[in-house]
Amino acid sequence: MPNNPRLVFFGPPGAGKGTQAERLTETYGVPHISSGDILRDGSRSGTELGNEIASYIDNGRLVPDELICRIIFEEIAKPACQRGFVLDGFPRSVEQAEALDEILAGRGFRLQGAIELELSEAEITDRLTARRWCEDCGAVFNLKFDPPEMRGCKRGRPISECDIVQRADDTAGTVQTRLKVYRETAGPIIDYYARDGRLYPIVTNGQSPEEVFRQLQNTLGEMGVVPVQ
Ligand code: AMP
Repeated sequence: MPNNPRLVFFGPPGAGKGTQAERLTETYGVPHISSGDILRDGSRSGTELGNEIASYIDNGRLVPDELICRIIFEEIAKPACQRGFVLDGFPRSVEQAEALDEILAGRGFRLQGAIELELSEAEITDRLTARRWCEDCGAVFNLKFDPPEMRGCKRGRPISECDIVQRADDTAGTVQTRLKVYRETAGPIIDYYARDGRLYPIVTNGQSPEEVFRQLQNTLGEMGVVPVQ
């Protein structure tokens, strides 16, 4: 029975969860589910619920557990996730972590591990305030080490035709709130996964995305996770 990846990515905002989860998706052939991306899409729907979600995100606060659990569990019930998935940005509370384990156990699966990407606070602030994204295709850039001009948008259009903007929650003030929320919530989640040996920390300070990905592949090897055939 192949050990398909069922993993969560965990770490402070800006640690590279999205970038690494996308690489993992390409190499291991399982969907990448980003709670932040799903919520940002929802927040632009113009509905009452969308506006409520936007008010949490724009202030750097967490949306309620019940709401995010409903959204994420609908995603992982989809046929595309039956052979594994990589969750990024979820869980962000012990309640979410417990609910995820329960849902998976009910379907006969087990989350193999939580990959914790570690990064110093100075580097986080530096990275996040220089982060930009294309509102149209979702590509993420960094003005300092991965500028839009060097890569272009995911749809292959000239970069001059893309809407490259800063996320409303990547401004210096909101970054501080998000870091505070992370500091307050991270410890219990780390303990939760460490307790039964499912925590896999990876230090990313001063490392390129390629170096982090190499460490990540080694870690998955240790976990016995193999690419989906
Ligand atoms: P991210 O893109 O992962 O940094 O998420 C952006 C924002 O979406 C967060 O600051 C929260 O407001 C919200 N969010 C994302 N994931 C969760 C989650 N698992 N629980 C609660 N709120 C979340």
